[in-house]
Amino acid sequence: MSSSSYKTFDQAGPLAGKRVLLRADLNVPIVKGEGGQLEVRDDFRIEKLLPTIERLKKAGAKTIVLAHIESVETNSLRAVAEYVNTKTAVTFVESLDTLSTHAAQMKNGDVAILENLRSLDAGEKENSADFTKKLAQFGDVYMNEAFSVSHRPHASIVGLPKLLPYFAGPLFDSEVQHLSQAFQPLHPFVFILGGAKFETKLPLVQKFLNKADLVFIGGALANDIFAQRGLEVGQSLRAKGAIDLSALATHPRCATPVDVLVNTPDSYPKLPAEVSATDRILDCGPETVDYLSRMLRTAKLVLWNGPLGDYEKGFEQSTIDLAKAVMKSSARAVLGGGDTIAVLAKAGLLESCLDNEHIFVSTGGGAMLDFLANGTLVGIEALA
Ligand code: ADP
Ligand code: MG
Repeated sequence: MSSSSYKTFDQAGPLAGKRVLLRADLNVPIVKGEGGQLEVRDDFRIEKLLPTIERLKKAGAKTIVLAHIESVETNSLRAVAEYVNTKTAVTFVESLDTLSTHAAQMKNGDVAILENLRSLDAGEKENSADFTKKLAQFGDVYMNEAFSVSHRPHASIVGLPKLLPYFAGPLFDSEVQHLSQAFQPLHPFVFILGGAKFETKLPLVQKFLNKADLVFIGGALANDIFAQRGLEVGQSLRAKGAIDLSALATHPRCATPVDVLVNTPDSYPKLPAEVSATDRILDCGPETVDYLSRMLRTAKLVLWNGPLGDYEKGFEQSTIDLAKAVMKSSARAVLGGGDTIAVLAKAGLLESCLDNEHIFVSTGGGAMLDFLANGTLVGIEALA
C-alpha cells in the first residue's frame, strides 16, 4: 500500500471556504475528577490530531470534526471538545439540528466538533444510507484522519466517501506509510507481539513468520505456546477456544520468554519449565528483556504491539525495560496498541518515544493489527 492509492491533503486542492468533514479519532480515556468533572486522562490522540486541525484552519476551511467515544464515564464528546478547545479554538455542537444552525454561521478557519456519532444515531455503526446522507449534507469534502477506526465499516468511515469527494489526512497517511515498512522490511526485522487473545492474533503471527527474522511472542500469548510445548502453565491466562499452535511452538524463528514472573509475592524469576500448577504467569523476567535488548542492538526494523505483562496488576517492568531498549536501539521502530501506549504513558516514556525520530507510535490498536495482517482496511479501500 502506498500513498499513491489514495489522494492526500497535499492533493486536495484549495480548501478556503470549503466545508470539510474531518473524521478524526477522539476516543480518548476519560476519568472522573475529584469534583465529579470529566477529565481527559491521556491526550496522545488529540496531540497527534492538532497539526491537522491547525492546517485546516490555515487553509481557511470550515471544519466539522466527526468522531466517537466509547467510555464507561460518558457517551458524550463534550469534555473532549472542551479539552481540545484549551489547545485550539473549537466549538462543540451537540446535535445535527444544532449543527444546521451552527454550520450556516461558520467562518473560514472555524472548527466545530460534533457530538459522539455513535450516540447520535445507530446508523453510524450500521453504515445506514440515511445517516450517511444526513452527515454528507454538511460537507463539500471528506477527509479521513481516523486510521485507528478504519477497520470498521461505519457510516463515517466507508459511507461518506461514497457521497463526497475524499482524501486521506496526513496522520492517516503517516500510519499507512510507517506500518507498510513491515511488508518490505529492512533486515534484521524483529517482530514483538504481546498482550492477550491469541485467537485474534494468530493470522498476524503466521504472516510475519515469513517476513521477520525473529518473531517474539510475549504477554499472555506466550502461555499458549508454553502449553503447546507441554509445559505446565498453572492458572495463567490462556486463549479462548482451541487454536492450533503446533507449527509455531517449534518454529525456529519464533521465540518466547526465557524467564517469567508469577503471582507469588516476592517470587524470583522462574524458568518456564519451573512454573507450577498454582502459579499464574504475569510477566517476562529480566533475562528475557536482556535477550530482546541484544536482538535490538543489531535490528534494523522493530515492530511491537502488546504489553509483555499484566500491567494493570503492576507487572509492567519488562514492558518498560523493553521500551527503553527500543529507544536505545538505532533500529526503526513502530509501536502501537492501546494498552501498549497506556504502559508507556504511565511510565512517562511516551513523550520521549514521540520525540524519537527512529520511533513511530501508531494510534491504531485493532486497526494496526488488521492492517498488518491484511495489508489494507475497509477505510483505506473506501478512499481508493
Ligand atoms: P494492545 O492494546 O496494546 O494492543 P492487547 O489488548 O492485545 O494490547 O493486550 C493487553 C492486555 O494483555 C492487557 O490487559 C494486559 O494486562 C494483558 N496481558 C499481558 N500479559 C499478560 C499476562 N502474562 N497475563 C495476563 N494478562 C496479560
Ligand atoms: Mg488492548
